Amino acid sequence: MSEVTLKDLVVIITGAGGGLGKQYALSFGARGAKVVVNDLGGTLGGSGTSTKAADLVVEEIVKNGGQAVANYDNVVTNPEGIVKTAVDTFGSVHVLINNAGILKDSSFKNMSEKDFQAVLDVHLNGAFRLTKLCWPIFRDQRFGRVIMTTSPAGLYGNFGQTNYSAAKLGLVGLAETLAREGAKYNIKVNAIAPLAKSRMTETVMPPDVLQRLLPEKVAPLVLYLSSVDCDCSGSIFEVAAGLFAQIRWERSEGALFKPDESFTPEAILNRYPEITDFENPQHPTQLNDYNRIIEQSSKLPANDQGS
Ligand code: NAD
Repeated sequence: MSEVTLKDLVVIITGAGGGLGKQYALSFGARGAKVVVNDLGGTLGGSGTSTKAADLVVEEIVKNGGQAVANYDNVVTNPEGIVKTAVDTFGSVHVLINNAGILKDSSFKNMSEKDFQAVLDVHLNGAFRLTKLCWPIFRDQRFGRVIMTTSPAGLYGNFGQTNYSAAKLGLVGLAETLAREGAKYNIKVNAIAPLAKSRMTETVMPPDVLQRLLPEKVAPLVLYLSSVDCDCSGSIFEVAAGLFAQIRWERSEGALFKPDESFTPEAILNRYPEITDFENPQHPTQLNDYNRIIEQSSKLPANDQGS
């Protein structure tokens, strides 16, 4: 079996003091990568700070013969400090795992703007700021790997998580566009939607289910996507309980209206079953896919069916 190359890569993992990030850090450390273990050591809701979480992970990596350094900066307010720790300690950054996260769940009716903003800040703006700082380094060295941590809640929605879902789907858009902009510099950007045992899920899932959702079952994909060997970019993966699967966009074949057809709400009502028929789906991967549709529509004969 071919080896996945991670040795000597400098990897920043945000929120690596516990849960998924901790497991990634231990796994990278065991594979000879140089790990920046970032974590501000706050509560699930984002309050408070402590150096302990990051320190313990670094201790464990070093005890096992690996290389790691702790960093306690907030991804929102001091992303510069995180990149500086990587460059000062290990000379560069090759891989960025945007993993730090908080939860401030409530139904939309009760969601305050403050809680909406706070969740967007950590997940989306934190990832944006750190990626923005690493980008020139990646371009200059013609190598970079970025993992965005999205969520099934972002892909499908989840009651009580409007802030979290919005931030998480925002990360998908960020990854998809960065993948295009990074292509010629060998920068690959992908998104993972995990489900795993951590303090985020411990209160909402029974223990026997959690035991099947260990972070160890997520880490291998993150390591592969971070490696020299990774060939994909702009992809989204769901990963949990032993399942590793790619997600893609699907569009129904749809109803193509003739240029002179009546563009009325009634026409939509009449052809709604056709519009939503997924019998012959398409899988668009790019924006200019619409050129083909416009061309196809202009070639249709004049309307003869009305609506
Ligand atoms: P976790 O709470 O154990 O880990 C998140 C870590 O981020 C914490 O250690 C926390 O201290 C740190 N953190 C929070 N705000 C920070 C900030 N501003 N700066 C630096 N560090 C900060 O939870 P987890 O489940 O391991 O979550 C990891 C990531 O995976 C999160 O982005 C989460 O949204 C995502 N995720 C988790 C699940 C799951 O099932 N556990 C599902 C989907 C997505």
